[in-house]
Amino acid sequence: MFHQIEALVIDRGITMGDLMGTIETFIQALFGDDVRTRFLPSFFPFTEPSAELSFSCPFCTGGCRVCSHTGWIELGGCGVVDPNVLVAGEWIPRSTPDSPSVSASIASR
Ligand SMILES: [Zn+2]
Repeated sequence: MFHQIEALVIDRGITMGDLMGTIETFIQALFGDDVRTRFLPSFFPFTEPSAELSFSCPFCTGGCRVCSHTGWIELGGCGVVDPNVLVAGEWIPRSTPDSPSVSASIASR
């Protein structure tokens, strides 16, 4: 079974910090306040900066089958959408030189 959640925020002044705080709040609402989030730098063709998103395993303290004995569960990628993608999708006008945006794509099997 595959689940996917996509979220996109487009506005001026939005930063990677907004993305990270929103995801942390979302993950803690789902799995509890003790769960930690981890963002590792990564590459995705449509976002810069980009990160792989993981959260600490809520089912164990030292590793289990759910987290493949790593203590972390990877959810997917996230990052700031390249403004050229927003122009191509007609989300912003071509004349806008820099429209900060944040996107999160969380996928889990
Ligand atoms: Zn575990």
